[in-house]
Amino acid sequence: MTAIILSGRTMSAELKIELREDVQRYVQRYGQAPGLVVVCVEGDPASGVYSKAILKLSDTLGVQARLELLPAETTSEELRTALVRLNEDAAVHGIIVQMPLPAHLSQEVVANTISPAKDIDGISPLSAGKLCLGQPGFQPSTAAAVMEMLERSQTPLDGQHVVVLGRSNVVGKPLALLLLQKHATVTVCHSHTHDLPSITRQADVLVAAVGRARMVTAEMVRPGATVIDVGTNAVPEGGIVGDIDFASVEKVAGAATPTPGGVGPLTNVLLLKQCIRAAWQQAAQ
Ligand code: NAP
Repeated sequence: MTAIILSGRTMSAELKIELREDVQRYVQRYGQAPGLVVVCVEGDPASGVYSKAILKLSDTLGVQARLELLPAETTSEELRTALVRLNEDAAVHGIIVQMPLPAHLSQEVVANTISPAKDIDGISPLSAGKLCLGQPGFQPSTAAAVMEMLERSQTPLDGQHVVVLGRSNVVGKPLALLLLQKHATVTVCHSHTHDLPSITRQADVLVAAVGRARMVTAEMVRPGATVIDVGTNAVPEGGIVGDIDFASVEKVAGAATPTPGGVGPLTNVLLLKQCIRAAWQQAAQ
């Protein structure tokens, strides 16, 4: 068997067309574009690259986005004050703060300060609580991207056994909750899990969000299973590989995502999708 390739690039292109149309409808109705601010505290070189990618995508979709660059020595109180100002700015509908923050700043300050109405990456305790209770709200964008990919590929979830590798607050845990909402039977594995292959081989759908290059090999995959790779790992020989050993897994899986070109291209698009939804919600109040 050779797996069907689930292309995040193709799905992302489809979704971008839909979102552009949604933004046009919003502008026609309210006379202004949805507004997004990316807050970046200087210090992490990768954050600048990620911020630019979000701004470029926003521009493509017609979302009014800007970067708020804060100096590396920004104090906790100054960060809080900046976020409160953005919370109160009616032209700003979504706020994202690039992680990681410098060591002297805690993610908790950000999570507890961003208005839940503008928390488009689902990091606030209220967003997490709503997700846990199955109420509508904003979700961490990578978990949302995996769900979008499963939906667009019409992967059955109801009654299916989904094994999630990884239990982080940004991917594994929220994803498990979203899968439960779709009536999947969910097993979450982590670094203390014994005999991983015996569990992964039971999966109808296997999602890897671990951060270990090519750790999931063909022997760990049930023939015909759908395999989604969230991992992005830089390798010494250059380039990025996933948590899935794609070359061997594609020979046994029914469907699989490549890396790069899988979940990655969808993640920022889902962030923008949630920003546009935030704008509609705020305008309706
Ligand atoms: P993380 O916070 O480091 O969490 C990794 C998880 O994997 C933890 O729950 C850890 O278990 C588990 N784990 C580690 N070694 C394991 C092993 N040998 N067997 C089973 N589980 C193991 O990472 P993350 O933020 O969730 O990200 C995961 C991967 O996704 C990374 O490669 C990251 O770069 C990538 N990522 C991609 C996107 C995208 O847009 N494509 C977005 C976000 C993240 P413990 O909890 O026991 O430590």
